[in-house]
Amino acid sequence: MIACANPRLTFVHTAGILNFSTLILPAVGGGVSLAYPLIFSIQKFSIHDGAGIRTTVFFKGCPLRCAWCHNPESQSFEAEEIRYGERCVRCGRCEEGCPAGARETVGKAYDPEVLCALLERDRIFFDGSGGGVTLSGGEPMAQDEKYVRAVLERLWRRGICVDVDTCGHAPYEHFQAAMPYTDVFLYDIKAVEPALHERFTGVSNRLILDNARRLSGDGARMHVRVPVIPGFNIPRHDSTHPGSGEMGRIIRFVRENLRAEQVSLMPYHRMGQDKRARLSGWQGENFEEPGPQVMEAVLSAWQKAGFENILVGG
Ligand code: SF4
Repeated sequence: MIACANPRLTFVHTAGILNFSTLILPAVGGGVSLAYPLIFSIQKFSIHDGAGIRTTVFFKGCPLRCAWCHNPESQSFEAEEIRYGERCVRCGRCEEGCPAGARETVGKAYDPEVLCALLERDRIFFDGSGGGVTLSGGEPMAQDEKYVRAVLERLWRRGICVDVDTCGHAPYEHFQAAMPYTDVFLYDIKAVEPALHERFTGVSNRLILDNARRLSGDGARMHVRVPVIPGFNIPRHDSTHPGSGEMGRIIRFVRENLRAEQVSLMPYHRMGQDKRARLSGWQGENFEEPGPQVMEAVLSAWQKAGFENILVGG
């Protein structure tokens, strides 16, 4: 068992799964150290995060604060507590660890080897479906690049295909470190207009668009993912002109700058609101969900611009 001097880091167990915030440990074989980022979920049998059946690893921590984020527990790099007030039985044993499951700590650190061994258990599903592992989040490229590379390289050596789902806001060196072991980058383009992007995500999109161009220029396989959000990148209450305005700018940016093998149009849904309220008491912006007619019109705008390989919904 590993002992830890940091008072914030109170316990470790022998299986290699650590329940606290970023932990620095000496790397095997010498002076370099690995930071262990937090992971908030490992989801099996996913069919929306790349080809085939996938196991998706959700890293905790993202440089963006998208107003529509479906995984608000992924935004902070720190471990957090989610409260389920309706489960509380008022026993007063909160400090011992809630026996009723009304308080749940989100965020675990895994040794890279332990994580990869865990992921390898799903190989039978990957092999039979053409699937693999997807690193998602939060933002995997904003984590310690040595850790991410260690995971990618280990999976690659085991013959497991890995996709990286990214918002693009990270140093380009992190992408370069990941590229040799990454099958496809699932790359989000949310908006091209800088002020709009900043207003709804909290950051400029300059780095994101620059990285997208560089990654494409360096020959990485890219699937572009575009959230479709009325009131953000398409007009509210109007399904007639989705190819103009911001969605039109996104279409032009992708056509003129990227070699995207596939485009995924991701309709906004309200799933994250409940989780956000449990974390912070704030539900977030109340966007409209785009209906089938709206999605049909957005799809048609991309098709008219010459895109053929388009998925709606993932
Ligand atoms: S980039 Fe993704 S994970 Fe990060 S805040 Fe936006 S929606 Fe959430």
